[in-house]
Amino acid sequence: MSKVISIKDTNDGTLIYGLVPAKCIVGYYKVSIKVKRSKLVDSNCSCGSSLCPHAVKLYLFYMAHFKNMKKTEKK
Ligand SMILES: [Zn+2]
Repeated sequence: MSKVISIKDTNDGTLIYGLVPAKCIVGYYKVSIKVKRSKLVDSNCSCGSSLCPHAVKLYLFYMAHFKNMKKTEKK
């Protein structure tokens, strides 16, 4: 299960830090992504690749669990 550690709104989009479970090793990848207008625009991952499957996983997790929360807040 992925985890979101922190969400930070910036002028340039929303920065999300989280952990994504690694498949073949025990533990998690540390992933940070930037979401702008609901799109994944940038990412950093401890696996070394950018816009890797882990970043996509965290992005989908964020969209599924946190996006709506924010909307209700705004109203
Ligand atoms: Zn990765």
